[in-house]
Amino acid sequence: MDSNWSLDSHTILYGVFGDPIRHSKSPIMLNRAFREVGLNAAYGAFHILPGTLKEAVNGIRALGFRGVNVTIPHKVELMEYLDEIDEGARQIGAVNTIVNEKGRLIGYNTDGIGYVRSLKEETGIDLAGKRVLMLGAGGAARGVGYALAKEGAARITIANRTKERAEELAEYMARFTEAEGIGLEQVAQAASEADLIVNNTSVGMHPNVDEVPMDTALIREGIVVSDLVYNPLVTKFLREAQQRGAAIHSGLGMFIYQGAYAFEYWTGLPAPIQAMREVVEQSFNE
Ligand code: NAP
Repeated sequence: MDSNWSLDSHTILYGVFGDPIRHSKSPIMLNRAFREVGLNAAYGAFHILPGTLKEAVNGIRALGFRGVNVTIPHKVELMEYLDEIDEGARQIGAVNTIVNEKGRLIGYNTDGIGYVRSLKEETGIDLAGKRVLMLGAGGAARGVGYALAKEGAARITIANRTKERAEELAEYMARFTEAEGIGLEQVAQAASEADLIVNNTSVGMHPNVDEVPMDTALIREGIVVSDLVYNPLVTKFLREAQQRGAAIHSGLGMFIYQGAYAFEYWTGLPAPIQAMREVVEQSFNE
């Protein structure tokens, strides 16, 4: 870590916009990253209430922020206020990262690509030709599904509590790969064929740590099971999957890598992944 790191009148500014925002781990993660590579930069958390997003985005231009992450509930509305939207973000229909190129605001989505990069690095899975069962059909599922399809997943089955949402998402996904939407109670067949099962629902997240999104007796040995939830770091779903002989992948990796891509888009430097992971893991133990 660079011990000469300090803030002054040259400091380049970054931040995250969301509502709620005080729980966000992004500031500690990104500030640690800037410090690790010795950049004179600072990253703050901004509580942006519904109805004020447009003004906040204009503030990025006015104040000359280099970059901003955007989280719930603003990822879709934000698209109206940007100058340019990257192809991936346009396909997903949501932006989580803004790059300010001399006053032109460009929107990216690093959630899906961050997810896939962490999944591949942590489990070694080659997604080409694989069959995937995705549980959940919300905003995160859209980005994850798009990125998995781009990696060559041969078939994606989306199971959701509200079946209509699974069917809608499958219709969208069918542009990129073979896709099907089913109800959450119909997962047995898809689970028996899946190489990868991903929990894209919030089931199992703190404080409901005793819940699982599907019957884990359906999980086969040797497959990969992944959970977007990262609080707790290892959910009950992942614990039971591991007991059944699956390789497991926690949601923390997605969080780290979506931030890593944002860091790389903003700075052009490779993200110091290890330091970013360490500081976030440490914050869970405090
Ligand atoms: P969202 O748009 O609100 O979607 C929530 C999904 O969970 C929907 O499919 C919903 O089903 C389902 N769901 C919620 N409660 C359920 C229950 N009790 N039983 C069955 N299904 C239930 O949320 P999101 O933004 O996609 O986020 C989903 C999860 O991913 C959250 O836990 C979030 O923290 C996590 N996430 C993690 C990262 C990361 O970096 N690791 C990034 C983004 C999101 P219905 O359609 O039936 O309501």
